[in-house]
Amino acid sequence: MSTPLVAIVGRPNVGKSTLFNRLVGERKAIEQKIPGVTRDRVYGRATWLNTEFLVVDTGGITFSETMELEQQVQKQAQLAMEEATVIVFLVDGREGITALDEEIAALLHRQGKPVVLAANKVEGKNLSLEDFYRFGFGEPLPLSATHGLNIGDFLDKVASFFPAQIDKQAEDTETIRIAIVGRPNVGKSSFINVLIGEERTIVSGIPGTTRDAIDTTLEQNGKKFIFVDTAGIRKKSKVKEDVEYYSVLRSLKAIDKADIALLLLEASQGVTEQDQKIAGYIQESGKAVIIALNKWDLLRDGDRERASITQVEEVRKYLKFLSYAPVVFTSIHEPRRLKKLFTLLEEVYEEYTKRISTPLLNHLLDDACKINPLPTSGKRKGRIYYWTQPSVKPPTFILFVNDPSAIHFSYLRYLENRLREAFGFNGSPLRLRMRTRSRKGGK
Ligand code: GDP
Ligand code: GDP
Repeated sequence: MSTPLVAIVGRPNVGKSTLFNRLVGERKAIEQKIPGVTRDRVYGRATWLNTEFLVVDTGGITFSETMELEQQVQKQAQLAMEEATVIVFLVDGREGITALDEEIAALLHRQGKPVVLAANKVEGKNLSLEDFYRFGFGEPLPLSATHGLNIGDFLDKVASFFPAQIDKQAEDTETIRIAIVGRPNVGKSSFINVLIGEERTIVSGIPGTTRDAIDTTLEQNGKKFIFVDTAGIRKKSKVKEDVEYYSVLRSLKAIDKADIALLLLEASQGVTEQDQKIAGYIQESGKAVIIALNKWDLLRDGDRERASITQVEEVRKYLKFLSYAPVVFTSIHEPRRLKKLFTLLEEVYEEYTKRISTPLLNHLLDDACKINPLPTSGKRKGRIYYWTQPSVKPPTFILFVNDPSAIHFSYLRYLENRLREAFGFNGSPLRLRMRTRSRKGGK
């Protein structure tokens, strides 16, 4: 059930990041709301015909500044080849072939991953793409990332290389799947080791399921907890520059397989850029989340109370978009704290799978609209007729409205806050979607 990974490779200026943004789409809006998050995003999620996949803009992966451009591009391509399911080799349809394109093509030929060759910037011109055949990756797919031309055909081709997805419904719903994520050295492996040492009833190597081979399963309070991709945590890259890339990528893959992301930060250190990247991804993925400030034991006794306040404040400030995440302090040397964490994981899972009945919801809506009536936005007066919660993981609410454009985003925010006040949803993201419904079809 591993999420397919699509890596966009190509020399500078061919339009990789433009294509990336087009594929990742609306999420750019989220990015702007996150203070302090780096402007160039390298990883994102995208969907095509109900299939979710990860996209990596390899142009955004940077190595040491002294590295020659050529070497940079080669390294980027190499990383992409190792981890990707499909590689998109992007060239510039207007400029034609350059020496660097040739080099990348040669690199891509030396491995077995499927390659989709796409020629960008073809809008408005009748370009001949014949030359690109000579790379040996078949017909170049014409594309315009800025104009959104041919994106459907392009994604059809890319998705044709994805392995068949295993049906999620077939999975055991009684187990809670957790991804322990965080930057190198924060304590992820130690965490797993302590958990394994603590708990005797480890179920290792579930028969018949090779894909679970690297997951660690534990039983606590009569519930099954699966820590996904724990082998990925232990494996460390030899090359220093690759460490961040691999650790972020592994985290993303693990998050995709989990119900809850347990984001480890170091209690004595601030929130770093890499932490923000992973946190941003957790938010986008719609998974539940708990933030753990680890190595709590390293803080001096007298400082603990003060530190705990400032640390939480810092997390709230820099990870504002995860305001629904509980923040806890952990230490591998204090098993009592880990025990409490299991209880919290259970609680958060319950919130993440909680359903609110339609009558209760509409009661809340009536109240909310009385306290704070829907303001007029745009030409039409907005109306919300009713809402329901059709699904969980994450809890998703559909609002039936007269005209989605007449309802401002801030009103949805307000309703989300009311939902949380009334029903909690601790640790769980909430999704609110609008659907048009004519008045006579209302409640
Ligand atoms: P990267 O270095 O490969 O990530 O390239 P960018 O995405 O930064 O794009 C480089 C330049 O090409 C920018 O000025 C883009 O606006 C432009 N560009 C990207 N896609 C297209 C396209 O489809 N058509 C045209 N005309 N320009 C494009
Ligand atoms: P990973 O790279 O995230 O898997 O981190 P490791 O589990 O390898 O831990 C890195 C270092 O931090 C090791 O030397 C651990 O012993 C240490 N460490 C991990 N958790 C704690 C903790 O709670 N307290 C203290 N004092 N050290 C810890």
